[in-house]
Amino acid sequence: AFAEQVRQAPIPKFTPIAESELPALQATKLHKAFNNVEVLGSVDLSIQPGEVVSIIGPSGSGKTTLIRLLNGLEQLDNGEICLNGKSFLKLLKYGADKGRLVRNQEHQTKIGMVFQGFNLFPHLTVLDNLLLAPRYHKMGTKAELSMQAYQLLNKVGMLEHAWKYPHQLSGGQQQRVAIARALMMKPEIMLFDEPTSALDPEKVHEVLTVIEGLAREGVTMVVVTHEMNFAFKVSDRIVFMEKGRVVCDDSPDQLKVRDNPRVDAFLKNVS
Ligand code: ADP
Repeated sequence: AFAEQVRQAPIPKFTPIAESELPALQATKLHKAFNNVEVLGSVDLSIQPGEVVSIIGPSGSGKTTLIRLLNGLEQLDNGEICLNGKSFLKLLKYGADKGRLVRNQEHQTKIGMVFQGFNLFPHLTVLDNLLLAPRYHKMGTKAELSMQAYQLLNKVGMLEHAWKYPHQLSGGQQQRVAIARALMMKPEIMLFDEPTSALDPEKVHEVLTVIEGLAREGVTMVVVTHEMNFAFKVSDRIVFMEKGRVVCDDSPDQLKVRDNPRVDAFLKNVS
């Protein structure tokens, strides 16, 4: 009866901010080096509200580093990241504080992140994994947040597992919980870092189906992926990276007809 109540309650909508002219996310001239070796060299990326952008490219090309920079998980060496036109991460270039990195903490909660390795809290149940961050940020009463959690678990097909611990779940199930957990914060943009690459092949589909559903609902997202069928089917744009640079940034249709030997060679190898 309870499950029925959850199923019938209206599902919160993640409406894109269509009237906004501003990009949901804009990265300008991002630079990053590890041990003096350049990993990203002047990367620009702009994501409009409601847009789905896949990032593809050979291993080591800087895709994960880029998405971690976008979320503030890596320190920026240079450049700026804006959310809805407001600076989220920026390196001060002038004045007494020159070289200092400024981060807008408030914006951090507006970015949802899903990792390759799920990263659920092992000592918490599925439900408590979902409740931890929104409770900490006082985003509602316990009852409100619990109902929201059940709805999101239902949405990703995990309602029946709300009281289990992560180790009792398959990788695909854990990843679906991780997606629901990220959505609890009502993010303005979702970042996925190779969300299916740690999964057994038969579990990949169930996770991609959930992400595809979100894309159709208009959730703004950036997905680093090796799943080319998914990227071509779901994305508005596909960004191809190589050696720390954006080599092309096209719609799937444009990418298919573009005559770029490096992109062609890559696509031939992965498909
Ligand atoms: P991709 O996701 O495209 O495979 P990554 O962003 O993971 O690429 O890595 C890009 C380059 O940065 C690689 O050469 C990698 O070895 C290096 N790198 C990534 N993270 C670190 C780190 N924490 N310390 C040193 N080098 C790193």
